[in-house]
Amino acid sequence: MEAGPGAPGEPPACDLCGQAAVFLDRFSQRHLCGDHVLLDVEDRVRCTIQEYHLIRPGERLAVALSGGKDSTALLHLLSKIVPEMGDVTLTAITVDEGIAGYREATIRVAREMATRFGVEHHLVSFRGISGATLDDMVADGRSHPCSLCGIHRRRALLCAAAGLGATAIATGHNLDDEAQTIVMNCLRGDLPGFTRPPAKDPTGAGIRRIKPLFRVPEKEVALYGMLTGIFHDLPECPYAGTALRSEVRRMIDRLEYLHPGTLERIVRGQEDVASLWGRLGASETSLPLTGGRKDRDS
Ligand code: SF4
Repeated sequence: MEAGPGAPGEPPACDLCGQAAVFLDRFSQRHLCGDHVLLDVEDRVRCTIQEYHLIRPGERLAVALSGGKDSTALLHLLSKIVPEMGDVTLTAITVDEGIAGYREATIRVAREMATRFGVEHHLVSFRGISGATLDDMVADGRSHPCSLCGIHRRRALLCAAAGLGATAIATGHNLDDEAQTIVMNCLRGDLPGFTRPPAKDPTGAGIRRIKPLFRVPEKEVALYGMLTGIFHDLPECPYAGTALRSEVRRMIDRLEYLHPGTLERIVRGQEDVASLWGRLGASETSLPLTGGRKDRDS
């Protein structure tokens, strides 16, 4: 055997082109080189948008851009895909929750990324919309930061999107986020949340919320960011790790490691349940339980 990718002592070869692989999909056991990782992620997002009719012709789409890896990758992907879709306009909205020592750096990255991709950028703050920063709101120690943050962030995004005439808000939720939300909805007994169709959530204000990355695992989103040079090492929110989501994440990560494909099966399974529920004609208002799908960090 000739020396090179795939030869003994060399990195494995890409299953599609024979170049040196940078990624192994443990579920399909497929090795991919950098170029094919990028193409694969882009194709999956393109297919998700088409399959779920996430973007409509002529609409103004607001990307919720925190500056973190998921939303930055989403902006990058949409700035490539949206021009193929005719007259859709992209704009980016960053929410400043008012978290000292954390938000400043991500806002700077968000601004840089919007400029890099030629997308109009808008900043909206908790202080401007709700009259106080998140730090102020939790200063008494009685409120849970992530729950408050989720509620006020949704409100700030909707306010800003409505003011800009946007018809949909795209968020960077990935496959891991979606699987975690499904398990959390089970743990909370949140039947309306559990039976809601994936990929898009109602916002209650005539503005759709869509999740074009919901079929892409977090690791692949991060790899996409690294390979395209848009990945930034940013500080972690000081309130992270206090939510139920952190525990659910640890549990699912372990299951995914032991049983590759777990994330995909959780999301596919919930999709089947939501579809069956929709065909049965069940209405949320007829359900005895209350609750709702919570944001990624709550
Ligand atoms: Fe907000 Fe919690 Fe996320 Fe921090 S970790 S940004 S407080 S939701």
